[in-house]
Amino acid sequence: MSLSYDVVVVGAGTAGAYTAYNLAKRGFRVALLESKSGDKVGVKTCGDALGKHHVDRMAKYLTPNPKILVNDIKGVELFSPDMRTKYVIPGEGYMLDRFNWGKWLVKEAINAGAEFYEGHTATVPILENGQVSGVKANDNRQGTHKEFRGRIVVDASGSVGVVRSRLPDTWPISERLHPEDVSHAYREVFYIDGSVENPQYIKIYLDQTISPGGYWWAFPYSSDFLNVGLGVWGTLKVNPNANYKRYLEPRYRIKNKVHMGGGFIPTRRPLKTLVWNGIVAVGDAAAAVNPLHGGGIGQALLTGELASKAIERAFSAGRYDAATLWSYNVDYMNEWGYRQAQLDVVRLMLQTLDNDDLNFGLSRKLLTEQDVLDISSRGVTLSVVDKLRLALQFVGRPGLLMKLYNAMSYAKRIGDLYLQYPQRPEELDRWYAKVVETYREYRDKIGLGPMPA
Ligand SMILES: Cc1cc2nc3c(=O)[nH]c(=O)nc-3n(C[C@H](O)[C@H](O)[C@H](O)COP(=O)(O)OP(=O)(O)OC[C@H]3O[C@@H](n4cnc5c(N)ncnc54)[C@H](O)[C@@H]3O)c2cc1C
Repeated sequence: MSLSYDVVVVGAGTAGAYTAYNLAKRGFRVALLESKSGDKVGVKTCGDALGKHHVDRMAKYLTPNPKILVNDIKGVELFSPDMRTKYVIPGEGYMLDRFNWGKWLVKEAINAGAEFYEGHTATVPILENGQVSGVKANDNRQGTHKEFRGRIVVDASGSVGVVRSRLPDTWPISERLHPEDVSHAYREVFYIDGSVENPQYIKIYLDQTISPGGYWWAFPYSSDFLNVGLGVWGTLKVNPNANYKRYLEPRYRIKNKVHMGGGFIPTRRPLKTLVWNGIVAVGDAAAAVNPLHGGGIGQALLTGELASKAIERAFSAGRYDAATLWSYNVDYMNEWGYRQAQLDVVRLMLQTLDNDDLNFGLSRKLLTEQDVLDISSRGVTLSVVDKLRLALQFVGRPGLLMKLYNAMSYAKRIGDLYLQYPQRPEELDRWYAKVVETYREYRDKIGLGPMPA
């Protein structure tokens, strides 16, 4: 059976449902495919924390039911491995009732006019004349095969990127995720006996034994209802589930568990390109995640918004090739991609530090709470680089400080390169060669090997 739409969206998580909503609202005929059956829609293993600025931006198009935003978060408490130093970083946000958030988004997409195909698993893209023109899918319940055809396919299938990763190697959007650029995470949601301190602050704990190359967290939905988990760096082959059971579970007097699960998250610089002929990637499928903390719900919304605008422009032009969809890349790099690249540089450096370095760095406030806030909200600026250059003369551990200084100065350089993202696909290779060269220099300086292919 072959079905025809303007746009076929694969995956009904936050990114896919929000893209489908935005496109259907603009009057496009949209098919939204989801491999889960209807009762499972909304189930997602996640920390469920979302910055308020993402919700505010979303409210231009769609306002969440306040019941889905279950805890008003005031900021982050960040702890050193020895627990002697605590940073309190202000920042408003929410904990989401994730199941109902996911269900609500899909419902909004359907109400806006998208046709929802639950229990439909996209298998391969359909390629015709150098253009993606649809996907093949299995109807899991009927056991039948279908073709969904559209001018544009949106890959919103999460970290696997099921459509883009099955495109020819010669298409730059098919870029594979290297284990070095991936984090593995495991988390449980449970009620406890008693209560946590300061439940309006999400808690992040740095500890290279418990969560090597990552962190562990306790995010409160309320004083006695928590989301606790950890993420580890992909290359280290540490089992996050085993570390959870060993180190985290014994810390809480758990009354009853509500949900458990793991997943992997792309934690890296932006993909070389988020579009190609007839294809657009959003959310985790576009690796649009904060590489430092692995948060990607906000970026799933952002990419859904920006991709929908680019798709609308393509329909106005009547062309669906890489060049016509390219404005999505440029918008993305200018809005968030350059900061994603900056944070990726910082993340690579942090992953080389041990607990001693982290204890020292945090206790001496090599970067203050304000610096951390500025970097996360505005990106790395020259003032942070200058401050570290000055500090080099005065603080002990010159090796550590030099690493931090290099990270900040290369973050600035690489961010600037992403702000000069090419305006046309033909310029991509030349630009990307500069990115690779700058990363190579940086990795040399902080003692990491060559950039993984
Ligand atoms: C343990 C963990 C903790 C996290 N904590 C946070 C946090 O606190 N805050 C935050 O902002 N982010 C967090 N993230 C990241 C965040 O969950 C993701 O970035 C975000 O949910 C991505 O949304 P998405 O729509 O791109 O992908 P997903 O939510 O993964 O949605 C993809 C959808 O595609 C469907 N699909 C997959 N393959 C197919 C196919 N072949 N055919 C049809 N459908 C398919 C899937 O079933 C799924 O519904 C965390 C992630 C993990 C794993």
